[in-house]
Amino acid sequence: ERPNSLHASDIAHSMHPYTNMRAHEEKGPMIMTRGDGIRVYDIDGKEYIEALAGLWSVAVGFSETRLADVAYEQLKKLPYYHSFAHKAHEPSIRLAEKLVEMTPEGLNRVFFTNSGSEANDTVIKMVWFLNNALGRTGKKKFLSRNKAYHGITIASGSLTGLPANHKDFDLPAIPVTHLTTPHYWRFANEGETEAEFTARLLKELEDTIEAEGADTIAAFIGEPVMGAGGVMVPPEGYWPGVAEICRKNDILLVSDEVINGFGRLGTPFGCEKFGFTPDILVTSKQLTSSYMPLAAIMVSDEVYNTIADHTAKLGTFGHGFTGSGHPVACAVGLENLNIIEEQDLMGNAARLEKPFQDGLRKFADHPLVGEVRGVGLIAGVELVKDKATKEAFAPAGSMAAKVAALAAEEGLICRNVYETVALCPPLILTEADVTEIHARLGRALDRALEWAKAEGLV
Ligand code: PLP
Repeated sequence: ERPNSLHASDIAHSMHPYTNMRAHEEKGPMIMTRGDGIRVYDIDGKEYIEALAGLWSVAVGFSETRLADVAYEQLKKLPYYHSFAHKAHEPSIRLAEKLVEMTPEGLNRVFFTNSGSEANDTVIKMVWFLNNALGRTGKKKFLSRNKAYHGITIASGSLTGLPANHKDFDLPAIPVTHLTTPHYWRFANEGETEAEFTARLLKELEDTIEAEGADTIAAFIGEPVMGAGGVMVPPEGYWPGVAEICRKNDILLVSDEVINGFGRLGTPFGCEKFGFTPDILVTSKQLTSSYMPLAAIMVSDEVYNTIADHTAKLGTFGHGFTGSGHPVACAVGLENLNIIEEQDLMGNAARLEKPFQDGLRKFADHPLVGEVRGVGLIAGVELVKDKATKEAFAPAGSMAAKVAALAAEEGLICRNVYETVALCPPLILTEADVTEIHARLGRALDRALEWAKAEGLV
C-alpha cells in the first residue's frame, strides 16, 4: 500500500510499453522525478546510476541545461514549422549540415523522422520507391537477423527478429528473411572456430540470396553491434564480408546505428568500427540524447539521386511526418552534437572502454554468468544456469530480470533483455562512475546467487 496518488493513478490509468500489465497493477511504477549527470532520482529520493542511459540514449546525462536552453529559445522563436513542399527552417538545415560533416564520407543527404521505428519504416519505403523507380519491381525483400531490433511499427517491427515483437501482432507483415545472429558464443557449432563461424554465416547469406534470387532482395539491414536483442558483438570479418556480398548482388546495405551512432562503440559510428560502408545509415537516440524525439536517415548520393529523379517524374516524394525535422528537436540535436564534440564524449567513451569492459569481464567467473561481452560503452552480461552447457534459467529471462531488480535496489539501473543484463551508460561517465557501476552490479549478482541457492535453482 502506498499513499501516493501518482502511484495509484498510474496503476489506474496507464498502459505501459513493454510491460506485463497485470504484474504492473500489482507492482506499480518506479516514478522518476529528476536527473543529475548520470544519475536519476525516484519519487522517494532514492538515487540510481542510469547505466542504460534511459533507453540506450542519454549521451550527455540527465541534467544538461544547454539543451533545455536551446529548446526554450527555439520554442519562443519558431516553435513549429514543417519541411513539406520546399519549406525549411534553420534548425533542420544546420543539423543536416552537421550530420553530413560527422558521418562517414558519401552519406550526404538527410531525412528526419520522429523515432527510430519511423526511420526504418521510411528506409523500407525509400528502398521500395528506389527499386520501383529503376523498374526492379520484384526487388522487395529485406534481409535481417534473428534477435535484431529495428523498431516496433508494422514494417520496422517486421525487420526486428525477436519473438515478443511478432507473436500475436501478426508480424512479420513485409517480406523479410531473418538470418543467424552473429554471436559466436551462443550460436557457434561444437568445435567451430570464430573464423569458421563467420564463414558459415557469410555462406548462409550467399545461399539465401542464391535460393531467393538477388532480384527479389532489396536490402540487408543490421545493427553493427546488436543492442536490444542482448548486446551481440559480431565476429571479426563478418561486416566486411556482408558488405561485399551485398555489393556483388546489388543489395543495399543499411546500418541501423540508432544505438551505435555517435561514439557508443568508441568510434563515431559502428560502420567505422567494423570497416564497412553502408548505403543508408540510421541514427536516433544519442542524436538528441533523447531530450527530444528525433531520428535521421543518411543516404548515399546514389540512393538520393535515384529517388530525386523519380520524384521529379512523379511530382513528389509522397512521404513525410508532421514532425519531420521538428525545429525544437533539431535545435536540441545540434546543440547535443556540439556538446558531444566540445566535451570529446566520443573520446571519453574510447578512453573508458578498457576499464569499463575489463571490470565487467571479471564477472565472467561468477557462477551465474555465461558470457560478458561488449565494446566501447555498451555491454551485456549473459546469465546461465549451467556454465558448461550454457543452459538458461527457466522461465526464460527470469534470472536477468532478478539481477536487474536487485541492481535497482543497489542503485543501478540496467536492463534485462532476455537472458542478458545490458549496460549502456551515458557517455559523460567518469572512471569513478565505472568503478561504482561494477561495485553495484557485483552486489546484485551476489545477491541473485544467494537467492538462486535459497530457491534451489543452482
Ligand atoms: N533501431 C534500433 C537499433 C533500436 O535500438 C531502436 C530502439 O531501441 C529502434 C530502431 C527503434 O527506435 P524507436 O524506439 O525510437 O522507435
